[in-house]
Amino acid sequence: MNSRSLILAAAFLGAAFPTMSADKPGYTDTPVITGQKWKVHDADRPQPRVVAPGSTFSHGATAPADAVVLFDGKDLSKWTKGGAPAPWKVEGGYMEVIGKTGDIQTKDKFGSFQLHLEYATPNPPVGDSQGRCNSGVFLHGLYEIQVLDCYNNPTYADGTVGCIYGQWPPLVNGAKPPGQWHSYDIIFEAPKVDGGKVVEPAYVTVILNGVVTQHRKPILGPVRHRDVAAYEPNTPTSGPIGLQDHGDPVRFRNIWVRPLGEYDK
Ligand code: MG
Repeated sequence: MNSRSLILAAAFLGAAFPTMSADKPGYTDTPVITGQKWKVHDADRPQPRVVAPGSTFSHGATAPADAVVLFDGKDLSKWTKGGAPAPWKVEGGYMEVIGKTGDIQTKDKFGSFQLHLEYATPNPPVGDSQGRCNSGVFLHGLYEIQVLDCYNNPTYADGTVGCIYGQWPPLVNGAKPPGQWHSYDIIFEAPKVDGGKVVEPAYVTVILNGVVTQHRKPILGPVRHRDVAAYEPNTPTSGPIGLQDHGDPVRFRNIWVRPLGEYDK
């Protein structure tokens, strides 16, 4: 290949993959997020500050008395994949994503709720940026709170663990090293819907390893990749809790939920 061909090839690749680079992952060709100055997955959006979490939120603790236990380490009887049995592995008190088997959801639906779960990503880690042990928690099956190994793993800000994916980066990056159990505590207020139209967005508060990453942030709509999130007609006011199969062997344990019906009135 001569130098002119090389230049043309570089220009072509630059057009096809406009901004994804190892030192500054993200995009510059995506639309601006509604109500914000940043683009979706903006490569220039500032990285969240790294905070080493303490031990304020303990792991493996028992659920409150009125919680609905969704996974106690023994079986996936509360979970499904589109009506079929959930196909993920259960062993050693945790469930593990079996890549390419698909996302799973709770059989039950919930409106507003308090959710607790714990996750761990493999050690040593595999891949980088969004490819490093990606999963996610899908609220109402629609809105993603990212699960990703973000320990010494730069990625675009609104894809960092603790984010509302593609909408709000976490306030800080509270990731622990790979292999360690992380705790997620999520307080979710369902959207208010009138005549099929959203009149009040969903709100979410997220605490990762005892560190607040979202404080009652408005959710802009169902998760989108490289596109602007917006609510669609007939948005539901309740839905399942989902866990994402992004092809990586992420583990989950100790999952429980407390419905907060008072917020649904
Ligand atoms: Mg994800």
